[in-house]
Amino acid sequence: MLFLEWWNCRYRLNRLWLRSYGLWFKGKNMIRISSNFDGGNIDCDQCDDPAEIRLRILPDAKTDILQWFYFRLSGAEGRACCMSIVNAGAASYPKGWEGYRAVASYDRENWFRIDTEYLDGLLTLQMTPEQNSVYIAFFAPYSMERHADLIARAQRSPRASVSVLGQTLDGQDMDLLTIGEEGPGKKAFWFIARQHPGEAMAEYWMEGFIARLLDAADQVSQELLDAAVFYVVPNMNPDGSRRGHLRSNAGGANLNREWQAPEMDRCPEVYVVREKMHQTGVDFCLDVHGDETLPYNFLIGTQGIPGWDTRRDMLLTDFKRTWQLVNPDFQTVHGYPMPPKGKGNPALCGNYVAETFDCFAMTLEMPFKDAADTPDNITGWSPERSRRLGASVLDVLYKLEDRITVN
Ligand SMILES: [Zn+2]
Repeated sequence: MLFLEWWNCRYRLNRLWLRSYGLWFKGKNMIRISSNFDGGNIDCDQCDDPAEIRLRILPDAKTDILQWFYFRLSGAEGRACCMSIVNAGAASYPKGWEGYRAVASYDRENWFRIDTEYLDGLLTLQMTPEQNSVYIAFFAPYSMERHADLIARAQRSPRASVSVLGQTLDGQDMDLLTIGEEGPGKKAFWFIARQHPGEAMAEYWMEGFIARLLDAADQVSQELLDAAVFYVVPNMNPDGSRRGHLRSNAGGANLNREWQAPEMDRCPEVYVVREKMHQTGVDFCLDVHGDETLPYNFLIGTQGIPGWDTRRDMLLTDFKRTWQLVNPDFQTVHGYPMPPKGKGNPALCGNYVAETFDCFAMTLEMPFKDAADTPDNITGWSPERSRRLGASVLDVLYKLEDRITVN
């Protein structure tokens, strides 16, 4: 009797063990695609067969704008994966896929490019992951958690203070860093980034820019802070960033088309920043972006405003030339065609600020792909190079600061 009970128990335990092992084994080899995390964006049509994973980018809320993707591929270690984004042809900038390679990372800190091909509206990404979990994205993502770290770290510096200008539609904070001492005769230099949330390189740019500005050993920063107060909004679009949007906020607004008459219930982000600009005045403004199509770093002036003048025209030329001299990743040949004087869109940040405050304002574009004159085959344009470009703008400002006048 005892023997039978013992046998029965052993038999059951064995069965249980085998079943758990089977489930574990199946789980380890089941390919999964997920994007339910900060900045994630993808919909999975099919992922049973690693050779034929079919994915779909979700549009920004209340719009048909799409191009940003960011997802996790798991269970695929050592298996050749072929992932097709089936609605890539409906992306906002299909030319952005030409010569483009997606990025991947195992640790979410080091991002490298993977084989990517765009043909007949299908964007196909190929890789054989070396580990069981890998993240894949349009560009190295910059999460809202990382943004919170950036703000918290900056606040520890005696040079910086943090203030919350207001809340977004999703109830996130609009963070402003004020760097330097306010006082009579001080100029007001404004820097904003990520009006378009998918342009994550813009916040990496901010990391390099802010770190150098807060570096007590950097005399360039010290002298600039003697002359000006820096008002910095490292992320203009927290909702779009967390939701995994390319260009819009939670209400479907493109913030860089809202500067003329922003409404609190449609784009509080622009409303509160604009209010603050009117309090501080603006002597200089740089709005930092990324461009899906052009493989270059370039500046856009405000030649289309009614008040465009020779002083600003010369300053723009010298700003570009100087940046190129101090950082070879910046170039002056390629860029956007500019509208004639008076024909620019007054609802763009740069145009609105330049015209309203009679000041010098520009937009910076960085590539999603790579800088074609100084390419890096492994990373393409990267977080690190964006940081370096951000730090180097201070050398340009240092050389030209005395020509940026107090109004
Ligand atoms: Zn942009």
